[in-house]
Amino acid sequence: RKIGVAILGLGGYAKGQIAPALQLTEHCELRGLITGSPEKLPEWQAKYAIKDENVYTYDTMEDIASNSAIDVIYVITPTATHRDFVIRAANAGKHVWCEKPMAMRPEDCQQMITACQQNGVKLSIGYRMLHEPNTQKLIELTRTQAYGPITGATSLAGYAGSLPALDYWRGQRAMGGGALYDMGVYTINGLRYGTQLMPLAVVSATQERPEDVDVTTTYQLEFPNGILANGKTSVVESYNKLRIEATNGWYELDPMQPYEGVQGSTSDGKILGPPVPNQQSLQMDADALAILNNQPVRAPGEEGLKDILIIRAIIESAETGKRVPIVF
Ligand code: NAD
Repeated sequence: RKIGVAILGLGGYAKGQIAPALQLTEHCELRGLITGSPEKLPEWQAKYAIKDENVYTYDTMEDIASNSAIDVIYVITPTATHRDFVIRAANAGKHVWCEKPMAMRPEDCQQMITACQQNGVKLSIGYRMLHEPNTQKLIELTRTQAYGPITGATSLAGYAGSLPALDYWRGQRAMGGGALYDMGVYTINGLRYGTQLMPLAVVSATQERPEDVDVTTTYQLEFPNGILANGKTSVVESYNKLRIEATNGWYELDPMQPYEGVQGSTSDGKILGPPVPNQQSLQMDADALAILNNQPVRAPGEEGLKDILIIRAIIESAETGKRVPIVF
């Protein structure tokens, strides 16, 4: 059987990536829509043949509890709204997929995890890179210490767009706008999967904040064994790379997270593999199989929470100018 997915939040990522990617999945079917903008529904329903009985607004979404066609609610709204929507979805008895970054604060993440546990549903965070084959090959190089012990790492993710408008959520700090929450979470997660280690502390950090949100954030993390890792993320500068230094060479993903696929290479001239697009289809099929086979998901809420703890420590370090230990 296929897993019936309802998308909650019909914005840019839902429309441009997730709905099309659902059409390429083997184990999922886009069956439902939940929106605060009902004017969007006719186009969506016509395009994806969504039945009226599977359509909800934010006000009626609790009714989805009795709809057996829907197994999963995929929350794709502004970051500050993830917590409440995820808790409501879990309380409706549906499995939940939630976009990155998981939420604003560690406390929010914990409440989301608890709500899913109490309702016996799975929670998966939309870390598409963890399902991407070249990224998995890079992780394998670390796991096998193919180039010896790791000595350092660099992670960069920036996109030179225009400064986000103050009346749009991406321009609002309280809504989860800004480089660190949006793109920075890729650099943090990348350093974690690239090293297969958890950071001990933020050594230092700086944030450029011309208006409400940070447009560029740089940070240094200390990992075990004295490994220092540098991260940089921006919404006004472009770069995209994850590089791992080891005693006998280096290996990297350059670029590390575009939709079209990533490119991996090593210091001795190896190419990890051809770029693979449609990470979202791989992600959703893996998460659907986890539900069908009652297996753990690859990126559970606990993983999303760790990155939010690191984000908060980076912000604290930037604000205080001090080294901030990270306690998981
Ligand atoms: P968007 O602005 O294009 O869409 C947001 C949607 O949420 C809109 O349909 C909007 O109407 C709705 N919404 C619900 N509650 C809202 C509220 N209180 N205020 C404003 N809008 C509200 O944003 P997006 O690019 O689709 O991003 C949505 C989420 O997806 C974010 O968490 C973002 O980080 C994530 N995202 C992930 C990826 C990825 O590659 N995994 C890419 C883009 C976005």
